[in-house]
Amino acid sequence: MPPTRTRDASGYPGFWRGLRPRKHEGRTAVAAIAFSGTQNKEVLGLKLNELGISRLHKLISSGEVTSVEVTEAVFERIDEVEDTVKAYLFLDREGALKKAAKVDLNVARGEEIEPLAGIPVAIKDNMCTKGIPTTCASRILEGFVPPYDATVIERLKASDAVITGKVNLDEFAMGSSCENSAFFPTRNPWDTSRVPGGSSGGSAAAVAAGEAIYALGSDTGGSVRLPASFCGVVGMKPTYGYVSRYGLVAFASSLDQIGPITRDVWDCALVMNTICGRDPMDSTSADVPVPDFTSFLNGDIKGLKIGVPKEYFGEGIDPAVKEAVLGAVDKLTELGAEAEECSLPHSEYALSTYYILAPAEASSNLARYDGVRYGYRAEAGDLLEMFKKTRQQGFGPEVKRRIMLGTYALSSGYYDAYYLKAQKVRTLMRRDFDRVFERFDCLVAPTSPVVAFPLGDRTADPLSMYMVDICTIPVNIAGIPGISIPCGFKDGLPIGLQVIGKPFDDGTVLRVAYAFEKNTDYHKERPEL
Ligand code: GLN
Repeated sequence: MPPTRTRDASGYPGFWRGLRPRKHEGRTAVAAIAFSGTQNKEVLGLKLNELGISRLHKLISSGEVTSVEVTEAVFERIDEVEDTVKAYLFLDREGALKKAAKVDLNVARGEEIEPLAGIPVAIKDNMCTKGIPTTCASRILEGFVPPYDATVIERLKASDAVITGKVNLDEFAMGSSCENSAFFPTRNPWDTSRVPGGSSGGSAAAVAAGEAIYALGSDTGGSVRLPASFCGVVGMKPTYGYVSRYGLVAFASSLDQIGPITRDVWDCALVMNTICGRDPMDSTSADVPVPDFTSFLNGDIKGLKIGVPKEYFGEGIDPAVKEAVLGAVDKLTELGAEAEECSLPHSEYALSTYYILAPAEASSNLARYDGVRYGYRAEAGDLLEMFKKTRQQGFGPEVKRRIMLGTYALSSGYYDAYYLKAQKVRTLMRRDFDRVFERFDCLVAPTSPVVAFPLGDRTADPLSMYMVDICTIPVNIAGIPGISIPCGFKDGLPIGLQVIGKPFDDGTVLRVAYAFEKNTDYHKERPEL
């Protein structure tokens, strides 16, 4: 059994405003529950919407708080801050409360509940949710209500998770700031004049702002890790193939992977336990055993060999980010790991490779939005004109740019020079990782060279926007796992530490991240909104 991470309540005497012994199923539990002036329950000085999954699971399963209370606390918070943060595209208050009540009934009946049961989760709006809209933050999918659930949603529902709604993203997950949403940009809860990162900006902002306990995002080139880093939360991209992509609206199919955004590493492992695993509906989902990821979280990293790729600290990195990440490396060494510099020599080709491959796949995947099958349809005199107008009016500028780039790279006469060449470089980049993983158990690097930037700062210059993903993209190209965890602040803005692992060794990634988190306090900081 891994050590329990519940802190001894006696460490927080100041937060206690009252003790309430509770009887439940023959057990007497001393609940560290207090009522604040607003009637909201507090546990150890935190409101219910500010707690993590594992603590809420204990409270809900023991009957100390109800899922309805937790869900209501989350929606109260949404009412309070959503006008400022703008994380959500769709709220399902009714559905959420209904599910919460069902979980409470199960608890009252003395049934065992799943680790995620009754706990509110926000879903990035590019995953199909039966009966509620899925827009990909695009006009072209406005009004589309999927008739089925993505596999991850099915898995969450089977675990009795409480889905609060759908959260904002860059249109079709193309972007790094959430500003490419066709509807509105989401704001960073740490500084609302800044971006939350993208493309899963709504997911990360919702978790950071207390508008959800955790969220799901998708990561094609960094879209889970980057917003997690900008918003001071934990975000993981699992090994390609660990999580089913069935029902995830495809952007670049060979790179896309769904991942958790949570408040701490333990919670991340719990969500991984639920979403990972073979799915016959996705031919790229891997038939590998799924361990209990929390079994890796023992805090012990003694003797672990950590590589620090020098290319990730190059030109353009904010000195404060470099300092925080190198400080984290020192911390890991202090905890018994052995760190050494290493090299991934083909890193310099990551962006150019990605910006051939991802748009090429996107141009093919997005061909299906023709005004016939889904969502928006433009008025027109004939069929061809309808196709054209629908796509012209339905897609935003970044999506159009990607379709153009991809179509060009795949066109006859250019295919060999661009697409085929990029595939070859992809192999070289993969080999770089294979080579360093002969010597190291994992790698440690920044998640992003910079901290959250002001809204509008990079929208006029796509290349400067693309640069933000320079440290995350190689991980998608190689199909390996990566996590971002908080490791410092610059002028009050969170900095992310990235831990990268071998394929299907997601457990080691979590283990290192957990050891760091357990010995630092960065993840406990909350934005003041
Ligand atoms: N920012 C990258 C892009 O625009 C990655 C996006 C993603 O991971 N979905 O393509």
